[in-house]
Amino acid sequence: VEEAKAFRKQHKIKVYGTDVPNPFRTFEDLASPAYNLNPMLYKNLMTVKYKTPTPVQMQSIPIMLKGRDVMSCAPTGSGKTMAFLLPILQDLEKPEKKTSYRALIIAPTRELVQQIAREVKHLSEGTKLRVNVLTKATAADKFQTPESRQKFDILITTPLRLVYAIKEKEVDLSAVRHLVLDEADKLLDQGFLEQTDEIFAACSGSKIQKSLFSATFSSHVEELAKTVMHDPIRIVIGSKNA
Ligand code: ADP
Ligand code: MG
Repeated sequence: VEEAKAFRKQHKIKVYGTDVPNPFRTFEDLASPAYNLNPMLYKNLMTVKYKTPTPVQMQSIPIMLKGRDVMSCAPTGSGKTMAFLLPILQDLEKPEKKTSYRALIIAPTRELVQQIAREVKHLSEGTKLRVNVLTKATAADKFQTPESRQKFDILITTPLRLVYAIKEKEVDLSAVRHLVLDEADKLLDQGFLEQTDEIFAACSGSKIQKSLFSATFSSHVEELAKTVMHDPIRIVIGSKNA
């Protein structure tokens, strides 16, 4: 415990919450029995050749692997995308034919959605997990039947496009068990709050891990987030709202 404290201090990781799992130190740690990372994911990690995990990755990944809800505040460019993707890919493991989407990732812009999708493709190579991307541009795909849209494990989308898809009954979110809000400060701000609310309501599963990632969290958004999360752990890297 003391060791974890010193390690966090050294990497400017602040944590708030109950029973916070220890951070990991090296990617090799993830291959050890303590984490038991899928060898395929480990191989993909080695292929991208990151030398060391970033602080937000060190602390968020063990928390998410334990199934806990998390709110992570870390600067732009600090590797938040991989911090939420890796534990989700580890949990989903392989395609599930009988259910629809099990992971839902929301980001405020089409560009971000596409960036996340690219990173999923690299990280999930060889797992056969199926990723679908909804943006305004694909809204015209009317020839896609509802059935053909269901054969995916992961959905990445903007909030507006998803709300449209929910209304049109294009997507079934009843099997979702991972919900990520990327750039959560924007998604929980006035401009998107109504859509984000509708999305939460459409995820009707009983046990959903919720993860919020952002470079900033206003105290208003923080209070709001607490009302939708279950016993969350909050992480702040560096200084808040830097
Ligand atoms: P954020 O969402 O925090 O702004 P990104 O997830 O977009 O940051 O990552 C920023 C860049 O850092 C990307 O090019 C990504 O590939 C890279 N990156 C992610 N993790 C690491 C790491 N552990 N070491 C080095 N680079 C990394
Ligand atoms: Mg990001």
